[in-house]
Amino acid sequence: TPASLLADTTTTATCGYCATGCGLRLHIRDGEAVGLTPETDYPVNLGMACPKGWEALRVLDSDERATAPMIRDTNGDFVKVSWDEAFRRFCEGFKQIQAEHGNESVAFVSTGQIPSEEMTFLGALAKFGMNLLHGDGNTRQCMATAVTAYKESFGFDAPPYTYDDFEQSDCLVFVGSNPCIGHPIMWERVLRNKNNPDIIVLDPRRTETAMAASEHVQLRPKYDLQLLYAITNELIKQGYVDEAFVNAHTKGFEELRNHVANFPIDDVAPQAGVDSVQLRRVVEKIGRGKAVSLWWTMGVNQSYEGTRTAQAMINIALMTGNIGRPGTGANSITGQCNAMGSRLWSNTTNLLGHRSFTNDDHRREVAEILDIDIDRIPNQNSLAYDQILDGIRAGKIRGLWVIATNPAHSWIDQKGARELLDQLDFLVVQDMYDSADTVKHADLVLPAAGWGEKEGTFINSERRYGLLKKVCKAPGEALADFQIFRGIAHYWGVGEMFAEWTDPEAVFRIMQRLSAGRPCDVSGIDGYEQIDACGGIQWPWSSEDNNGFEPEQQRRLFGDGVFFYEDGKARLIVDAITPVPEPPCDDYPFWLLTGRGTVSQWHTQTRTNKSPVLRQLYPNEAYIEINPANAASMNVSNGDPLVIRSRRGKATATAFVTPTVASGQVFMPMHYTETNHLTLSHFDPYSRQPSYKDCAVSIEPASAR
Ligand code: SF4
Repeated sequence: TPASLLADTTTTATCGYCATGCGLRLHIRDGEAVGLTPETDYPVNLGMACPKGWEALRVLDSDERATAPMIRDTNGDFVKVSWDEAFRRFCEGFKQIQAEHGNESVAFVSTGQIPSEEMTFLGALAKFGMNLLHGDGNTRQCMATAVTAYKESFGFDAPPYTYDDFEQSDCLVFVGSNPCIGHPIMWERVLRNKNNPDIIVLDPRRTETAMAASEHVQLRPKYDLQLLYAITNELIKQGYVDEAFVNAHTKGFEELRNHVANFPIDDVAPQAGVDSVQLRRVVEKIGRGKAVSLWWTMGVNQSYEGTRTAQAMINIALMTGNIGRPGTGANSITGQCNAMGSRLWSNTTNLLGHRSFTNDDHRREVAEILDIDIDRIPNQNSLAYDQILDGIRAGKIRGLWVIATNPAHSWIDQKGARELLDQLDFLVVQDMYDSADTVKHADLVLPAAGWGEKEGTFINSERRYGLLKKVCKAPGEALADFQIFRGIAHYWGVGEMFAEWTDPEAVFRIMQRLSAGRPCDVSGIDGYEQIDACGGIQWPWSSEDNNGFEPEQQRRLFGDGVFFYEDGKARLIVDAITPVPEPPCDDYPFWLLTGRGTVSQWHTQTRTNKSPVLRQLYPNEAYIEINPANAASMNVSNGDPLVIRSRRGKATATAFVTPTVASGQVFMPMHYTETNHLTLSHFDPYSRQPSYKDCAVSIEPASAR
């Protein structure tokens, strides 16, 4: 029976998987959601949803949900306990470590999956209430590069675009981005573009998006920065520079011109495995385009020179005057539903509202707004995720609190990460599912409610606050993360500090005060009701915005050419090329590329593999894409089991023989636990984001040994 026939009412909420932030209409019967359909009036998805969104309710109803707090007993078994006992154990465990080894000895790892209000609460509780110095988010694994690139180039972490730009461009350039399956509703917006746009894809792999593009520049892995510099050089040589914009609104053009002169297109193209005629055609299309937009995702962010690669795209947009107008921009597409919220509100490596912990004025502002002693706010930066793990390795960090993320699967060089989790004196994992890989390493498990079982706001890729609604009851004893944080604050003895933090909307009002006067200002929003009525509201939304615009209006940044540096000018930033850390060699002759494999699975599959529908849409066992020529030389056929080895470990996966990968390259989706057995632990030096997409591996048929 259609859910809409059984429902007595409906309401709209933002989807809780990816950063597209689609609106889903939930069909409610007797206070519980009985079905959903994509919201036709929501300005993001316009009536569309991908399979994950359609199945959002189904994954809540699983036998693998964590339904009670659990403590590991002396035999190593989990025992169910009351919340009272769990909160006491949490406080005893961490307080004892802090008393013996100092506040630096306990850290937390946060997420891009919980609402902004819960992130703000978590960050404030951990840093100001529990006195922790170190915390980072799993957004370090996906978005840190974009944050650093924007901050350095624009003066603030500010993706400038709105989804309308997908429909307004006459030339779209995707670098390391596969929106066809990674962000399918954004891709649908591209398909609605009536300008017959040029679609240019730079990617070593012939992805679904590359197949649909007018130009697929199939470069060798890790040649993207050189290639972008060569394109920049040729754009300058061909006279495609918007000199009026460059002179009025940017700094560093001469350095840029001199730097990219070292990258002549005829030298770089053959090194990158690309035809220079095709590259000149690409330059022509970018140069002649009236509204050119450049888009990137994990192919850029998850690279050891990701920040400079993102900035090479930003440089092109700025230099050609493709910013602040419809259909333009250098646009990072985010991954998780609230990665953008994490950037502003997690209080991990940035102080609330993207302030700095080392700036005393910023600390004073936050202390005044929260009415707390300034000394409660650390005056030092947190360690980044990899540095926290290094701290565990060195025995300096002994306690870890992991919230809504799964490092035992997702962290680069997984074996090393798992060993570090086991080395901890005390590991607390707060998650919806007790089957999550990281739970297996925990000393204490806190069962959390999920999407649909609590309230708050997510911020999507185009800076839109969307509303999450409670339409189901969480199973058993599971609590919203918000309630768990309130409980911890009380048992820790800092409940008074959070007396005003009674419910998510009360915290949203605190966030509004924290945002006032900053680029991310949302002080003009009337409250949840207005967000709901408007189909979400993009930041900034100050009181002045309230007077000048309709909230429904799609808004992009920098229409006035004024950037967030004091002089109002954007920076053009270039750098030297750095060598590939682990190139293929005789022993490990293949490049391993990793990434999203399907529209129907999400990250480590913790949620999505609970849906029978989503499981049917994707192989349950790990597979590896291998080029037909390489497969033939090893006498390998489709479906044969292969053993893949890197210097870190080995994995088994089924051969998928396909020309989507070039000879000498293989691809494994990140959704399988096997993939990160192989990856190499190395990082972008500016953003400290892991470089997941390049390591050397060997391959042989499983029958060979
Ligand atoms: Fe949800 Fe993203 Fe799918 Fe939209 S595209 S329905 S936000 S998972």
